[in-house]
Amino acid sequence: MFQRPQHLMTRFAQTRKVVFWEEPMPAPAGSPPTLSSKVCPDSGVIVATPQLPEGMDGEAREAALKGLLDAMLAGVEGTLLRWYYTPMMLPFSRHLAAACTVYDCMDELANFKFAPPELTILERELFDLADVVFTGGYSLWEAKRDRHPNVHPFPSSVDRAHFAKARLVREEPQDQASLPWPRLGFYGVVDERMDLDLLAALADARPEWSLVILGPVVKIDPETLPKRPNLHYLGGKTYDELPRYLGGWNVALMPFAINESTRFISPTKTPEYLSGGRPVVSTPIVDVVRHYGDLEAVKVAEDAPSFIEACDKALALSRLKGDWLKAVDSKLSTLSWDETFTRMNLEISRVLLAREQARNEAMSQGAGSSTLAAPAIRPAGRNKPFDYLIVGAGFAGSVLAERLTSQLGKRVLLVDRRPHVGGNAYDEKDAGGVLMHKYGPHIFHTNSEEVFRYLSQFTRWRPYEHRVLACVRGGLHVPMPINRTTLNMLYGVNLQTEADAEAFLASRAEPVEKIRTSEDVVISQVGRELYEMFFRGYTRKQWGMDPSELDKAVTARVPTRTNTDDRYFTDKFQAMPLDGYTRMFENMVDQKGVTLQLGVEYEDVRDEADFDRLIFTGPIDEYFDHRYGKLPYRSLRFQHETLDQPWFQPVAVVNYPNEETPYTRVSEYKHMTGQQCDKTTITYEHPSAEGDPYYPVPRPENQALYKKYEALALETPEVHFVGRLATYRYYNMDQVTGQALATFRRIAEREGRTVIQAQTAAQAIAAN
Ligand code: FAD
Ligand code: UDP
Repeated sequence: MFQRPQHLMTRFAQTRKVVFWEEPMPAPAGSPPTLSSKVCPDSGVIVATPQLPEGMDGEAREAALKGLLDAMLAGVEGTLLRWYYTPMMLPFSRHLAAACTVYDCMDELANFKFAPPELTILERELFDLADVVFTGGYSLWEAKRDRHPNVHPFPSSVDRAHFAKARLVREEPQDQASLPWPRLGFYGVVDERMDLDLLAALADARPEWSLVILGPVVKIDPETLPKRPNLHYLGGKTYDELPRYLGGWNVALMPFAINESTRFISPTKTPEYLSGGRPVVSTPIVDVVRHYGDLEAVKVAEDAPSFIEACDKALALSRLKGDWLKAVDSKLSTLSWDETFTRMNLEISRVLLAREQARNEAMSQGAGSSTLAAPAIRPAGRNKPFDYLIVGAGFAGSVLAERLTSQLGKRVLLVDRRPHVGGNAYDEKDAGGVLMHKYGPHIFHTNSEEVFRYLSQFTRWRPYEHRVLACVRGGLHVPMPINRTTLNMLYGVNLQTEADAEAFLASRAEPVEKIRTSEDVVISQVGRELYEMFFRGYTRKQWGMDPSELDKAVTARVPTRTNTDDRYFTDKFQAMPLDGYTRMFENMVDQKGVTLQLGVEYEDVRDEADFDRLIFTGPIDEYFDHRYGKLPYRSLRFQHETLDQPWFQPVAVVNYPNEETPYTRVSEYKHMTGQQCDKTTITYEHPSAEGDPYYPVPRPENQALYKKYEALALETPEVHFVGRLATYRYYNMDQVTGQALATFRRIAEREGRTVIQAQTAAQAIAAN
C-alpha cells in the first residue's frame, strides 16, 4: 500500500530524518522484544518494526514498546516532532518531549470493526496533546473541529502522473488480461466497509460484465465474499502495479456500505480513479458527493437497481471521448501531494515559531532557560490551568471528574497510572473475544436509588442476580451464603420451613458474649463445623490471617439464610452495565472540561500541572509518603484462562474454602455479562501479600493507623481523599460512588452552587 502516510513521509524525508514506527509483529513466546529497522531505498524513510513475543499482555506490551522506542531515540539529536496516525500508539510514546505533535486523523477509527475500547479515550488524550490536527476529509473536519483549536482539513490528494499511466496502458497484467470485457473494477482494502450484497447484485444483474476486485481481505471472513463466475478477486497489488490494472477497466467502482464506518471516509481512490481516466460509480459517501458529485464522470447511486443503472451510464460514458474528461482534469489540477505536504509543513512551522517566540518572550522577562526547556520526560498534555487534578480514574475519580465538569463547569485533569479508566472495575475483551474483568469479578448491586440513577446516565443495564456455589467436602457444590438448601444438601435433612432451619442452626450455634471478630460472627450464627467448612480456610487464604484476628465486618458481609434464596446479594438494584464497565466509564469521563491522561503517575504531574485543588483516590499512606508506616493492604494474583469450550462451571463464581486449594474462588464472566460466544474465560484468585493494593485490612490497629493519616488529611483541606484506598474502607462500587457524590455535594455547597440532581431512573432508562 502506498497511501497518505507514505506520500507525506516520503516528502518529509527530503528535509528530515523520518522514522515510521509500525505495529508490532509477533515473535515466538518467551523471546525478548526486539526492534528491526530498514531504510526505504527511494525515500530514506526508516521503517522501525517492533517484534514482541506472543502472549505478552497489555501493560507488559506497552512497557516493552516504550523501552524499544526510548532505546531507539537515545542519542538522537535535534528537534523531535511526533506524528500520529492512531491514538493507539500513545501509551508508549506519550512521555516523549516533542517540539510539535501532529495528529493526522485519517478516519473515524472508533467506528471501525474491532476498534479497541480504549481508542476513544486515547483519542481524547491525543487531541489534548496535539499542537495541530489534520483530518483526512471535510466530513471528518466537521466532526472534529470543535475538539481542538488548530484543526485543518486535508482531503487526500493524488499522484496524478502515476495514475495517468492508466490512460496509456498497452500491456495488461497476466491475471487480468483474459477477463472478458466490459470490466468494472475496485481496488483497496476489502473489509466491513464494502457492501457485499450490492456487489453480488451487480454481478447477478450483469453476468456478461467482469467485476475485478483487487486488495487484501481484512477483518472479514473471505468465505463471506460473494462468489460468482464474473466476480474476480485478484488479491493485493502494489502501488506501482495499480495503473496497469486500472487501465484495463472501463469503469471504477466504490461499492461502500453506507454505515457508521463509512460516514467520515474520504476515499483516496476517487481522485486516483479519475486521474486514470475512468468514470466512477459510488454509493453516496458524503465526501465523494460533496467534492466530486458535480462531475459527470462520478455517478452516485444508493441502492442496487440504481447502482446497476449508474454502471450502465458510466459504461456508456467511458466509450465517449470528450468533455467529461476535461471537467475531471480541471478539477484534479488543483490536487497534489506536494501541495498538501507544503501546506501541512507550513502549519508545523507556525507551531514551532509560536513556541520559539514564547521562549524568547519568557527569556526577555528574565525566566531562566531551564524553566522553559522541555524536560526529557514530560507528562502528556500542554500545561494549561486546571481547577482540579484528580488522581485515579476508578469510580471515585471518574464520578468526581464527571460531576465537577458537567455540573460546575470546572476544568479537570484526570490521571491514572494504569493505561485505562475504570480502576479495579475495568473490563476488556481478551484475545479470545471474551469480555472479562482484569481485576477479578465485579458485580454491581446497590440499595441506593440515587447511585443507580446516577450511573444509569452512562450505561444501560443487564439485569443480573449473582449466585455463588461453594465447593466443599472434596467436590460437593452447595449454595453460598449458607441457606436451607445448603443445610439439606450437607446433612441429608429435609428442613421445610424457615423455623426448621432456624432451629437446626440454633442447635449448632455457639453463644458469643461480645461479637468482635469475624470468627465470632459466624460461630454465633452457624456453629464451629459450618464455620470451619465455609469460612475459616477461605478467610485465612484471603487475608493471610485467622478470622479471629479480623474485624467482624469482614465475614458479616456474607449473611446466613434460613430460606432458600440462593442469591449472593439481596439489594434492590442488581445489574451489570450492558456494554461493560469500561464503556460506562468512557461515557462518564467523556465530558468537555475533562482532560484524561492514562499511564501517568501523580508524581509525574504533581509539579508540572497547573491546578488549584487535588482529589486523591490512591492509597492515603502513599500520598503522605508513609510517614507513619505502611497501611496494610491485601493483594491478589489473578490467573486468567480462556478455554476453548462454551462453559466451565454452572454459576459465575465457585468458592473453594478449603485451605489445601491455593486459590479462593473461580469466576466465569459469561454468566455475568450474558455474552454469547464459543469460548469462555475464567479467573482463579490467588491471595497474596505482595502486589497492587486491593483490600484494606479491617483490624483495629490498622484503623488506628489510618486515623493518624486521616488527621493529616484533615490538616490538608485543599486535598480531598475519596475512594476505597484513600479512605481505607472495604467499600463496594456503589458505596464509593455514593461517597464521591457526597464529596461533590460538599464541594458544590462550599461554592454556594445548587446541584442539579441526576435524572430519575425512569428517565434514564427511557432515554436509553
Ligand atoms: P480503584 O478502583 O482502586 O481506583 C483507584 C485508581 O487510582 C486506580 O486505577 C489506580 O491505578 C489509581 N492510582 C492510585 N494511585 C495513583 C497514583 N499515585 N498516580 C496515578 N494513579 C493512581 N465492588 C462491588 O461493588 N462489587 C463487586 O463484585 C466487587 N468485586 C471486587 C472484586 C475484587 C477482586 C476487588 C479487588 C474489588 C471488588 N469490588 C467490588 C470493589 C471495587 O473494586 C471498589 O469498590 C471500587 O473499584 C473502588 O473504586 P475506587 O475509585 O475507590 O478505587
Ligand atoms: N468468606 C468466606 N467464605 C466464603 C465467602 C466469603 O470465608 O465462601 C469471607 C472471607 O473472609 C471474605 C469475606 O467473607 O473475604 C467477604 O466475602 P465477599 O464475597 O464479600 O468478598 P469480596 O467479594 O469482597 O472479595
